[in-house]
Amino acid sequence: MRFLRSGRPSLDLAWTVRFRNVWPTELLVDTGALHDWLQETYSNVVFEDSLDFSELLDRIRPLREALYGLVMATTRGDSWLEDDLLLVNDAARGSRFVHALDLMTMRPVRAATAEQVLAELAVDAIDVLNADRTRLKNCQGPLCALPFLDESRGATRRWCATQRCGNRVNTKAYRDRSRREKQSASDAGSSEITGPVSPTTAS
Ligand SMILES: [Zn+2]
Repeated sequence: MRFLRSGRPSLDLAWTVRFRNVWPTELLVDTGALHDWLQETYSNVVFEDSLDFSELLDRIRPLREALYGLVMATTRGDSWLEDDLLLVNDAARGSRFVHALDLMTMRPVRAATAEQVLAELAVDAIDVLNADRTRLKNCQGPLCALPFLDESRGATRRWCATQRCGNRVNTKAYRDRSRREKQSASDAGSSEITGPVSPTTAS
């Protein structure tokens, strides 16, 4: 399974409920999906056998909803809810992934408990929420509105992911333009073809 990437793990977590505004779809459906998501998100981390994925699944969803609530309140200009703050701050106090050096090199980064995963995500969420608030945005794609942190140089990012919403909108704009150009050409009595219509289909 491939998950969409926002550029920040905490926002990636928020994105594991897709289509929230129209038909909310849970992507972390079971411990296997959670394991896949974690391994994709933290590809350099070894998740040890002791990590209880059932416990993590039960605890990661409330954290996700809390950080999503804080992010969306920020993009709307609303106040943060106390309960959301408590949950994220509490998780952020936990111990983090274990980084260690060997004689010559770094050992693999390791995670052995749910607490460590939650702490990493909560700290990332706090970092995102401490960023310039004007850079926290919602995707402008139709039926989307996924939140993201715009870290582009000129703060010009508009999409959750260009290959998703950016392409959809650009493809639609291309189709509309081609249709208008064809229409005006036929209105003028011309049979000339104004250009190829071969947009790619967004996933
Ligand atoms: Zn989008």
